[in-house]
Order: sequence, then C-alpha cells, then structure tokens
Amino acid sequence: MFSGVSDREPNETGTTDEAGPAGDAAVEPLPTHRWAGSPAVPLAEVAARLGVPLDAAARAAMRRLPARFPRPYAELLHDGGPADPLRRIAWPDPEETAFDPDAIDDPVGEQPLKTHPFVIRKYRDRALLIVTHRCHFYCRFCFRAGQTVEPKLGEVLDAIRSLRGESALREIILSGGDPLVLPDEELAGILRACDALPQLRTVRIHSRAPVHDPPRVTSRLVGRLIAASPVPLWFVVHTSHPRELSPGFYRAVGMLQGGGIPVLNQTVLLRGVNDDPATLAELFGALYGAGVKPYYLHHPDRVAGTARFRVAIERGLALHRALRGRLPGPAIPEYVLDLPDGSGKFPVERLRREREGLYCAEHADGRTSHYFDIKAV
Ligand code: SF4
Repeated sequence: MFSGVSDREPNETGTTDEAGPAGDAAVEPLPTHRWAGSPAVPLAEVAARLGVPLDAAARAAMRRLPARFPRPYAELLHDGGPADPLRRIAWPDPEETAFDPDAIDDPVGEQPLKTHPFVIRKYRDRALLIVTHRCHFYCRFCFRAGQTVEPKLGEVLDAIRSLRGESALREIILSGGDPLVLPDEELAGILRACDALPQLRTVRIHSRAPVHDPPRVTSRLVGRLIAASPVPLWFVVHTSHPRELSPGFYRAVGMLQGGGIPVLNQTVLLRGVNDDPATLAELFGALYGAGVKPYYLHHPDRVAGTARFRVAIERGLALHRALRGRLPGPAIPEYVLDLPDGSGKFPVERLRREREGLYCAEHADGRTSHYFDIKAV
C-alpha cells in the first residue's frame, strides 16, 4: 500500500476525505504523482447535501469501502430521502457492516484465476489487468471492495510481461479500481508496454470516470491513449441511473468517440436504483442515443454488505423482458450473471431452473455450474 501524500485536504473533522477517521482508513490514498482527477468534496458537505448524518455508522461502513466524492458527482446529489437512487449508490449504509447470510466470498470467483497478483484470466483470449484499486468515487455495491494492495507501476508492467508467452491472448482489459485515477503518462506507459505482446488485437479500458469525474476525460488524455496504444482501444463506461448522464458525461463520451474510441456501457441491476423497466429503458435509450452501446446488464454480485441492492433471478428476467418493445434491439443489453465459480458471465435467459431457487448453467464446453439464488425480492 502507498503511504504518500494525499491530494485531498483534511476536512473539518481532521480526516482525509477518502475514508473514515484517521488511523482506520480502508485504503490509503495514492500519492499525488500517481493520482489524476478532481479533488474530493468534504464528506460533511456531501452529508449536508444528502440530508444524512455523518455518524459512527457511516464511518464504520467506510472502513469496508471508502467514501469519496469528486465535485462533479457530488453536484448530482440532493436530499431525496432514503429511497433516492443516487443516495443509495453513494452514501455508506449501516447495513454494510451487518451480518450478510447471502454473501459469497469472492463473489465472481476471481481469486483462483490470478496468474499474477494483478492479472485475472477467466478466458484464454482475454486478460484482466488490475492497474489500481483506487476510484474517483466508490459505489456502495462494488464487488471489488476490500482490495487494498495497490499495484505499483513496475508491478503492472511486470504483469504485462508475464503474458508474453500467451499465444491465445487477444485482448487486455485495464480495470481496477478505475484506471483513469492514474495520470495520463502512467496510462500511456502501460499501453506502450502492451507492444511487447504482438498477439494482442485490442485493449479495453473500463472506467466510470465519465460518470464520476467527467473533467478527467480530456482531448489530451484521449490523444495520449491513442498514440500510446499499439492496438485499437475500446472504452467501457459503467452507469447505473439516468441521473448520472450529466452534460459532462456526454462531453466526456463525445471526446472518446471523437478520437475514434468506441464506447460501450455496462450496468449493474440494483434494487432501489434501477430495478424498474422505465428507469432501465430511459438509461439505455439515452446511452444508445449518444452512440454508446449498452452491452451488459449485470445481475448483482453477492458481495458482503450489499444485500439492499440484490434482486432475485426471476425478477431480473421479468425486468429484462419488459425492455422488449420499449427500446430498439441494439439498445437492449444482454442480461448476464457472473458465476461465483469463476466460469465467467452467463446469459440469465439461458439458465435452466432445476427447482425453486436453484439454477444450472450449461457451458459450451459441456461443463455445468449451479447457482443458488437469494430468496425472492
Ligand atoms: S468505480 Fe468500479 S471499482 Fe470503483 S467502486 Fe465503483 S464499481 Fe467499484
């Protein structure tokens, strides 16, 4: 972990703005030379904006997953009561530290698939590269909560080198955390290092920066990424609710597209945030209108502390079916479940129901996976 200087000023409680009280921070901030993005708004200001207390329960939840609010996202927040969708996404909830009987350790089965401390290989043709565990903003439903060992640049470059002999590899996915917390030059260096992998066809960058901190996406950044990458780039933005599609979001996406980088979208189905057909249709329709292809709707992962976001499989299927007739075909994403056994994403429509609450996924290679659902909500 890094112990360098924070780019955020202490707030009025004397703590940094990224975590709980000094001494019990869930993550240490990146040193300034490795951080790019807007400064954080003091937590007390965000609490006042939302009309919530910055109390011991919130602080305890921040030890599970930090809280951090760049100004552009903080300005989307208002006091809409406990059911407000962005408040649910944003503000630490006491439930996060309560016993969660439906939680699954390693909810998408990644840990055994690490071929390097910062490389996850679920598929032979793709490698997911963890370039940081830090984010501009922390989504309370995040399935990578609890990751604290921050990769140094040298370790990320070593991770890329570890893939040299992988002849079936075709794509590297830069993930995290949010890769765009890293400064332009560091990202460019990571992309340049991919030149050592001649078998590569594409690099995909997954980031919520256009949502959480749109000014992070600049024409300079786009130009540097394109110049540094030895192969075509794809960009995947992650959105949760139509209110997140700010003018800044559209500007950021337009900059990426204007530079020739195609932009796709992923959304997690979240109870109390987007679990109704009208909200999903509004979100996917707006993205499609902006030239952003909605490609995955993720069934929520069973990460500890996120029970309030979970939706049962049958309900998710009904919601996904309700999108037909509301949206053009290309605007409807595939609804997928990332299976806890690490076998990867599986179309929920193709799950075979064996009995109430038990589903079977039959993979193309003949393997099967079983999934026990939560009780219906
Ligand atoms: S931006 Fe992604 S990695 Fe970061 S907290 Fe949100 S979901 Fe997790």
